[in-house]
Amino acid sequence: MRLIYFFFFMLITVGSFAQAKPRESLDPTVSEIWDLKPVKVTPAKNVGDAPSDAIIIFDGKNLNEWTSLDGTPARWEVKEGIFTVAKGTGDIKTKKTFGDIQLHIEWRAPTEIVGEGQGRGNSGIFLQERYELQVLDSYESVTYSNGQAGSIYKQSIPLVNATRKPGEWQTYDVIYTAPRFSENGRVVSQAKITVIHNGVLIQNDTQIWGPTEYKGLPVYQSHGKASLKLQDHGNPVSFRNIWIREL
Ligand code: MG
Repeated sequence: MRLIYFFFFMLITVGSFAQAKPRESLDPTVSEIWDLKPVKVTPAKNVGDAPSDAIIIFDGKNLNEWTSLDGTPARWEVKEGIFTVAKGTGDIKTKKTFGDIQLHIEWRAPTEIVGEGQGRGNSGIFLQERYELQVLDSYESVTYSNGQAGSIYKQSIPLVNATRKPGEWQTYDVIYTAPRFSENGRVVSQAKITVIHNGVLIQNDTQIWGPTEYKGLPVYQSHGKASLKLQDHGNPVSFRNIWIREL
């Protein structure tokens, strides 16, 4: 209803321009919106800490919010406020499912450098279990650009390489818009993602072409809300301070 008022207001405004009414004579209060109030949220003192309305996905204590893909308890190692991929135990995913979200997640590639390219500090953050934001040690390790840290894997190259040294904590702040599907399962609008890596914009409202594929082109398949999934790629990548705001 308010949208209708807004369009009505715009019509009147455009109409008044058409009549060449001088701007100075217009009433400025007509374009003020007072009755729609954004909900008040208390931001954390330290940016990166969860604000008041966030869902805490990892609080440093346990993996109670997570499961293995087969529904059994997640078996990654929790120690001293962080958790680390336990090689061979498989990917883990959140018990809760999500659509559009704001996500904060911190990750660390292992200090001990092992392997090259895709084999060095590889993990991944799969939005809705399908769309991978790559986690990789891309500090001084070369791989294909659309597979480096901050890429939408095999799709979108990050705008810059903002990767810190292995062993240092890194942040991803993500704004994710889920794809929309028609009733017959066709994609109406593709997923979109904005990513800030260590405070630097690396994906700017990037269109996601479909589910992440190692080989071949992605093809969308209709889905609803889904988990956040983290990848066991065999490297001991660590995570901490993970929270989500549903949008
Ligand atoms: Mg990966």
